Amino acid sequence: MSLLIECPHCHVTNRLEANRLAESPNCGGCHRPLFLGAPVPANSDNLAAILKWSKLPVVVDFWAPWCGPCQSFAPTFTAAAESMAGKVLFIKADTEAQPALGQQYRVRSIPTLAVFDGGVELERVSGALSAGQFKAWLMQFL
Ligand SMILES: [Zn+2]
Repeated sequence: MSLLIECPHCHVTNRLEANRLAESPNCGGCHRPLFLGAPVPANSDNLAAILKWSKLPVVVDFWAPWCGPCQSFAPTFTAAAESMAGKVLFIKADTEAQPALGQQYRVRSIPTLAVFDGGVELERVSGALSAGQFKAWLMQFL
């Protein structure tokens, strides 16, 4: 199964086989690691496969551009993606651009943060967390 993954660094779309997700592939455009250092934008075509094939736990930030608390939480999520690179895979799901995702994952309020391991949801929390709260919450799953 091949996936289209948008590079979080240069925004080029990469095509790769789902089973390569675990191998830390580099972007064909900027040659930086696709899944390290920045949250990867997901869509309804690739999120389920990312959750299934990632060897790392995955944290998904379900957000929307019109949501103020989502905007204020975004830098915290981005900073955590840098500081915890290689421990957790950070994914952003825009529920406005991708309404099917919000329905599929039963997102009732945003921001919602959900942690998955092996494709199974472990826990979710709604509302913007402080950087300290977010890190403490995430550390439980490592
Ligand atoms: Zn790139």
